[in-house]
Amino acid sequence: MTIRTRFAPSPTGYMHLGNLRSALYTYLFARHNGGVFVLRIEDTDQNRYVEGATDVIYRTLRGIGIDWDEGPDVGGDYGPYVQSERKGMYLPYARRLVETGKAYYCFCTNEELDARREEAAARGETYKYGKHCLHLSKEEVQAKLDAGEPYVIRQNVPEQGEASFDDLIYGRIAVDCADLDDQILIKADGMPTYNFANVVDDHTMAVTHVMRGNEYLASTPKYNLLYDAFGWEKPVYIHLTSIMRDATHKLSKRTGDAYYEDYIAKGYLKDAILNYVALLGWNPGDEREFFTLPELVEAFSLKGLSKSPAIFDPNKLTWMNAEYIRRLAPEQYTKEALPWYERAGVAGMDLEVLRRILQPRTEVFGQLPEMVDFLVKLDEGYDIELFTNKKSKTDAEVSRAVLDMVLPALAALPDWTEAALHDALIGMAEANGMKNGTLLWPVRIALAGRAVTPGGAIEIAYLLGRDEALRRLALGRQKLS
Ligand code: GLU
Repeated sequence: MTIRTRFAPSPTGYMHLGNLRSALYTYLFARHNGGVFVLRIEDTDQNRYVEGATDVIYRTLRGIGIDWDEGPDVGGDYGPYVQSERKGMYLPYARRLVETGKAYYCFCTNEELDARREEAAARGETYKYGKHCLHLSKEEVQAKLDAGEPYVIRQNVPEQGEASFDDLIYGRIAVDCADLDDQILIKADGMPTYNFANVVDDHTMAVTHVMRGNEYLASTPKYNLLYDAFGWEKPVYIHLTSIMRDATHKLSKRTGDAYYEDYIAKGYLKDAILNYVALLGWNPGDEREFFTLPELVEAFSLKGLSKSPAIFDPNKLTWMNAEYIRRLAPEQYTKEALPWYERAGVAGMDLEVLRRILQPRTEVFGQLPEMVDFLVKLDEGYDIELFTNKKSKTDAEVSRAVLDMVLPALAALPDWTEAALHDALIGMAEANGMKNGTLLWPVRIALAGRAVTPGGAIEIAYLLGRDEALRRLALGRQKLS
């Protein structure tokens, strides 16, 4: 049997990390087993249509290296792969269920349904559709259909007994049929509900394994009643545990931690996000933590899926991202950093020197503007206490002397290169029997206006250029007067 899996996102315009994880595991499972990975777009809810949202899905998946064997843009034998384009397929299946008594036409108006809902609420009961239209005779139904009355088609859930299914992660899930509502299969606009479409699509696309978020756990028994009603073979169900922010909260839009795009926008690397997401609810059974996509394909197995919720730890993701950044080839680092340099206003500086001082300490590219802001603009009101540093053996007096010596020497440098700056500054320390640190500390404070900087005095002086460096050194000297 060929394994066929699918990722079936609704085009909302965003990629939730939970969805990304479903896509990834589904893809990895198919690839690891030489199966087929299908992309299906679930756009039955036309009210929620978002322009360009399908492109976000393509772009995100392809961007991280996930490709599909069948899907809207690549075709395949089981298409179309967009639910709205399959619109005509669902009604005949629903009618088949009507013929066998497993579904029925319902003509109740919204007003009638609202009134019954209110009555149920007044009685303190949870509302459930009371099979009102199930009792219409064949002739009554036909007359209403002939008269063009709007209708929906509902599933006829048995009033007694149990609906159940076996899940690979959660085991046997059973619900009392008495607790299930006669859910709508075909809406008044002729479109299927998600609940109906996913069953018909998974069957007609010959999907063997359904992997998705556990928010569908409660509905799956109802889907299984449909499989039984059709006499179809059921897929293997694998519902993934939730991704939590902490013990009690899921990741959410509101807390801004849920979407892939948000992390990209903050300057996380897609490979690092992918690696981290892969480990949210799966482990390789050994100590490895770093995986490329091909390595994940190789290592993936359903056995490694976790049965408990995954905790999303933003610090761990940041740590992993920093590791990925450190491992970038120099030109790749600069390519990723360049948009941030542009934003910060340092893109015109020596990119190799910037990379040398920044790459070892970049955790997330979004931090760059803040890390380099002192290169663009000196905060002139800095505290002169900064010149005093025990370790470097400097205080205001020493710093004054250092700057008095350094200013004319640097002003006289014929070339403003790192090598020339290095030789001049280190040479001066040596000539005066000073520790390098004693000379370099006041210089760096005057150049940067702060104690913690990426890079040292020489690199900073070089990046600032002659005029700005001399101006800042003079200002520092003046502040110390
Ligand atoms: N369209 C559903 C979603 O985006 C997919 C559910 C499923 O995989 O069956 O959540």
